[in-house]
Amino acid sequence: MRIAVAGAGIIGLATAVELDRRGHEVVVFDPAPASGASLAAAGMLAAVTEIAWAQDALHPLMADSAARYPDFVARLEADAGRAVGHRVTETLSVAVDAADRETLAQLAALQGPSAGRVTGSRARELEPALAPAVSAAVLVADDHQIDPRQVTAALLELLGERVRRERVAEVLRDAGRVSGVRLASGERVAADVVVAAAGLATSGIAGVPVLPLRPVWGDILRLRVPAALRPLLTRTIRALVHGRAVYLVPREDGTVVLGATVREGGVAGVQAGGVLALLRDAERILPGIDECEIVEMLARPRPGSPDAAPLLGVVEPGLVVSTGYDRHGVLLTPLAAEVGADLVEGIPVDPARAAAVDPFRFGPLPAFASAPDAASPTVPARDVAAPAPSALTADPPALTADPVPPALTADPPAVEAAPLLLTLQEGR
Ligand SMILES: Cc1cc2nc3c(=O)[nH]c(=O)nc-3n(C[C@H](O)[C@H](O)[C@H](O)COP(=O)(O)OP(=O)(O)OC[C@H]3O[C@@H](n4cnc5c(N)ncnc54)[C@H](O)[C@@H]3O)c2cc1C
Repeated sequence: MRIAVAGAGIIGLATAVELDRRGHEVVVFDPAPASGASLAAAGMLAAVTEIAWAQDALHPLMADSAARYPDFVARLEADAGRAVGHRVTETLSVAVDAADRETLAQLAALQGPSAGRVTGSRARELEPALAPAVSAAVLVADDHQIDPRQVTAALLELLGERVRRERVAEVLRDAGRVSGVRLASGERVAADVVVAAAGLATSGIAGVPVLPLRPVWGDILRLRVPAALRPLLTRTIRALVHGRAVYLVPREDGTVVLGATVREGGVAGVQAGGVLALLRDAERILPGIDECEIVEMLARPRPGSPDAAPLLGVVEPGLVVSTGYDRHGVLLTPLAAEVGADLVEGIPVDPARAAAVDPFRFGPLPAFASAPDAASPTVPARDVAAPAPSALTADPPALTADPVPPALTADPPAVEAAPLLLTLQEGR
C-alpha cells in the first residue's frame, strides 16, 4: 500500500519504519522533523513510576509498551547501525518532607510490588550525591531510560529521503474515500492510507476530525556535570519536593536532563518561573546541581488528551490518527508503531487495548475543518461519508457537521513557529 504519514515526531517516524518493514511504500511529511515534543522529552521509560491515580486504562498500555522496548531497541540499533541511548538503569523516587513521604508511600502502594520502599540512608548509599534532606525512597528496577533524540535520529536515517520537509495541509478524498494529502506547497500526493501523527497539530490538518487535544507545556533543562563531579548520578532520580515533582535523568555523555514543568498556560517558550522551580527543587535533593553548566533550556507542548491516553484508531476508511500521547509518548512508541501499522493493514487490535486508545471514547468527533490555505476546493464536511466501523470501536459515532471553532482549526503556533530551543553553548 502507499501510505502518507503526517508528522515526523517519534510516533510518526516509528510507525513509518514499522510500515516500511512490512513492505509498504511510505512517505513521511514534516516541515521540521523531530522538532516537537519528541525533541524535549527526557526519555524516561517509566511504566511503574508514572502510574498515577485515575488512569487505570493507561497503565496496561504503559506496561505493554515497556515490555516491547528491548526488541524495539535491538531492531532499531541493528537496522540503523547505531546506538540509541537505551540505559537499563534503575529509577529511584525520593521524598523530602512528611507530606511528600506520605504521597510517595501511597503511590508505591498503587504502583505495586515492583516499587520497593527503601530508607533515606539506603538511597544515599545508592546515590551518594543525594542531599541529607532525602528521607524516604522507592526503588524501581524496571523503569529505564532512552535518549529520544538518538531514537528519532536513527529513525530518520532509516527513512532517508522518504522524509520530506513539507507540511501536510489537507487530507484529500475522492468519491468519499481518503485518497492522499495536499501539501502546503499545493502538491497533491496520492495514498491508500493517511496516518495523521502530527502531535498537537494533528487537528490543524484540514480533513482530520477535531480531536480533544490540548497543549500541556513542559519546560526542561539539560545540564553538563563538571568532570570532577562525575558521575553525579548513576540512575534516574524522581523526587517530590514539598508537593512538586522533579526528575533528573543522567545520560552516558555526562549530561543530566532536569525536568519538567507541567503547565497548561503561560508563555509559548521557556518560562522563567518554571526554570526557577526546577533548579530550586533539584538543588534541594541534589546540591551538586549548583556546580553544573546549563547547556540548554527548552519548552514544548505535550499533545495532551483528556485521560492522558493516546488517540489511536481508524476514524474513517483510509485515515488513521495517532496522537494524544501526552507525557508518555516515548514510552508508548513501540506499542504505537505496531498498533498503528496493524490498523493500517486492517489487522484486528486486542479489544481492551483498542478501547483504551479509541479516538471516539469521549464521544463523537466534530467534523474536520476546511483547509485555511486551500489551493483547491476542499470537501465540505457534510459531503463526507460517516466512518465505517473502526477496528477500534464496535459502534463508532458518526462525524458530525457541527461548525468547528476557529481556534481549533488554525495551525498551532508553538511547534513550528518561534524557535523555542535556547542553546546556551554550542559544541555538545
Ligand atoms: C518536557 C517534556 C518531557 C517529556 N518527557 C517524556 C518522558 O520522559 N517519557 C515519555 O515517554 N514521554 C515524555 N514526554 C512526552 C513525549 O515527548 C510526547 O508524548 C511525544 O514526543 C509525542 O510524540 P509525537 O510524535 O506524537 O509528537 P511530536 O514530537 O510533537 O511530533 C509532531 C510532529 O508533527 C509535525 N507537524 C506538525 N504539523 C504538521 C503538519 N501539518 N504536517 C506535517 N507535520 C506536522 C511537527 O513538526 C512535529 O515534528 C515529554 C514531553 C515533554 C514536552
